[in-house]
Amino acid sequence: MSKRAYNFNAGPAALPLKVLERVQAEFVDFQGTGMSIMEMSHRGAVYESVHNEAQERLLSLLGNPEGYKVLFLQGGASTQFAMLPLNFLSEGQTGSYIMTGSWSDKAYKEAKLLGKAHIVASSADEKYMRLPNVDSLDLPDNTAYVHITSNETIEGTQFKQFPDTGSVPLIVDMSSDIFCKPFDATQFGLIYAGAQKNLGPSGVTVVIAREELLTSSPDNVPTMLRYSTYEKNNSLYNTPPSFAIYMVNEVLKWIQEEGGLEGIERINQQKAALLYDRIDSSEGFYRGCVDVADRSIMNVTFRLANEDLEKQFIKESEQAGFIGLKGHRSVGGLRASIYNAVPLENCQALAEFMDSFKQRHS
Ligand code: PMP
Repeated sequence: MSKRAYNFNAGPAALPLKVLERVQAEFVDFQGTGMSIMEMSHRGAVYESVHNEAQERLLSLLGNPEGYKVLFLQGGASTQFAMLPLNFLSEGQTGSYIMTGSWSDKAYKEAKLLGKAHIVASSADEKYMRLPNVDSLDLPDNTAYVHITSNETIEGTQFKQFPDTGSVPLIVDMSSDIFCKPFDATQFGLIYAGAQKNLGPSGVTVVIAREELLTSSPDNVPTMLRYSTYEKNNSLYNTPPSFAIYMVNEVLKWIQEEGGLEGIERINQQKAALLYDRIDSSEGFYRGCVDVADRSIMNVTFRLANEDLEKQFIKESEQAGFIGLKGHRSVGGLRASIYNAVPLENCQALAEFMDSFKQRHS
């Protein structure tokens, strides 16, 4: 078996070893076709069945919610920040945004460029160290949608429950926690996620949405930025990122083999508990960045007494083979991203490293 790093990268991030090995095995000759999947037409039956299978698996893992469709797009989750207002904000309508950190802020700013955007809840004043209360949102009358970021990758917060927005569609950026646990897709009008954390490699963005939201894009929106273009053409209007979609299908197969979203959640909770327990039992040596109730089970953010000690932590952790523990450059500190494919053993190794680092430096 190849030697694998203790990879805690925030995205692109660790992929399941089983998936990489399977992909490697069929890399140069996919299913006896004499070519890799990257080399074949996206209009051929072989590729199309992979494409459709990936869509089916995505829906199946969600219990096949009625009336929902899957699209594959490019341009990352960042392009969704613009597609939402372009497709859903007609004259006089407002997009309502829940502000929880760096990514919701980017989504909001993009909407403001293109139409009216309104903040309905925010914890910006508290430096996003906790999530705002979203139990009762006061939505403007002309709200076309409410936007929420389920997991703030940089700050390390994660919603455990979502607001009930009644007949107004709730749109969620799930880029950094999609499929980390079971969830009810029907509470959302549209779910989007860049693949490069929990679903596969970068290059494809998954959208899962109620069909009626995908069919009515305004005619004056450029073709490639209209949801309806993808909906009408089964995401095959132009050349899709075929290799990335194939990889997503393989990752979804792996999730199914791991016991589906329930199985994945069980391991994710153990992984997160290991690291948060180290932080909480360290008598202040390690300090979590966000309120305990709002902690993410995907991105564990923490600090040490000062920046010098944090630098030392990064240095020693790298020497010990741990990759990607530096916090995002905008907030500093430390962050362990423990997406689905990060094995429990890697979190155990990190927890042990945290213990020994504390012993050496306290
Ligand atoms: N939303 C969230 C929550 C993210 O974590 C990221 C990427 N880290 C993005 C959006 C942007 O994704 P992309 O790089 O695919 O545009």
